[in-house]
Amino acid sequence: MRKKMVQLGFLLMVTVVVGVVWVDRSSAPVAPIHSQGATDSRPSFNKRQYSLTDPASPWVIVNKQHPLVTRTYQPADLVFPAVSLRIPGMTEMKMRQEAATALEAFLSAADAAGYAPQVSTAFRGYQYQKTLYDGYVATEGQAAADTQSARPGYSEHQTGWAVDIRTQSAQCYLEVCYGNMPEGKWLAANAYEYGFLLRYPADKVSVTGYSYEPWHFRYVGKGLTEEMHNQGVTTLEEFFGVSGGTTYKDAP
Ligand SMILES: [Zn+2]
Repeated sequence: MRKKMVQLGFLLMVTVVVGVVWVDRSSAPVAPIHSQGATDSRPSFNKRQYSLTDPASPWVIVNKQHPLVTRTYQPADLVFPAVSLRIPGMTEMKMRQEAATALEAFLSAADAAGYAPQVSTAFRGYQYQKTLYDGYVATEGQAAADTQSARPGYSEHQTGWAVDIRTQSAQCYLEVCYGNMPEGKWLAANAYEYGFLLRYPADKVSVTGYSYEPWHFRYVGKGLTEEMHNQGVTTLEEFFGVSGGTTYKDAP
């Protein structure tokens, strides 16, 4: 009888110990997915990494609602990219150093793929843009001018981050049909790998305020273009939630 009691007591003890261990294990907190750093390969993208208003920032947003904060801004480090240039030696072939280096990689990859792109126009200073815009206003009136040329102080080209590209034969030069040429298609499809955006897509006219321009590319850096590509967002306005549109903020 006493032996049976001991056996029963032992069994009870084992049951209690096993039960306590079981309860302890099952009540342990489940590790949240985000704490598993090694398997979390996509940390959230920092949208505040660069200024959206400083003209010297690669992420600056310039559109009809957001002119350059310094209207006569002039970039400090303009250089000639080592690529085919429409008019070698002309100031308007230059870009900011970082953009020029990226453009060299972009266009040499296009060359390697069998195409022949060249810079049509890159940097345009305030005065150059003013002469261009005033010329349109004088011949066609302001309403027509606004559809064809950015007002001075409102052009991405003034930042040194933008470039118009054409093919060396000048086929479809500054025309929508460039986007249907194999070269134009290649540039549009591969730009993001080199930090460039096709800035004025055909389906975003009401967002960007500009008609489709298959020749106009804007450097913003590869970190941003890859993130936008992954998210399937094509305009800076939509990605950053910044207003755009076809109406100018101020009178000229
Ligand atoms: Zn352009």
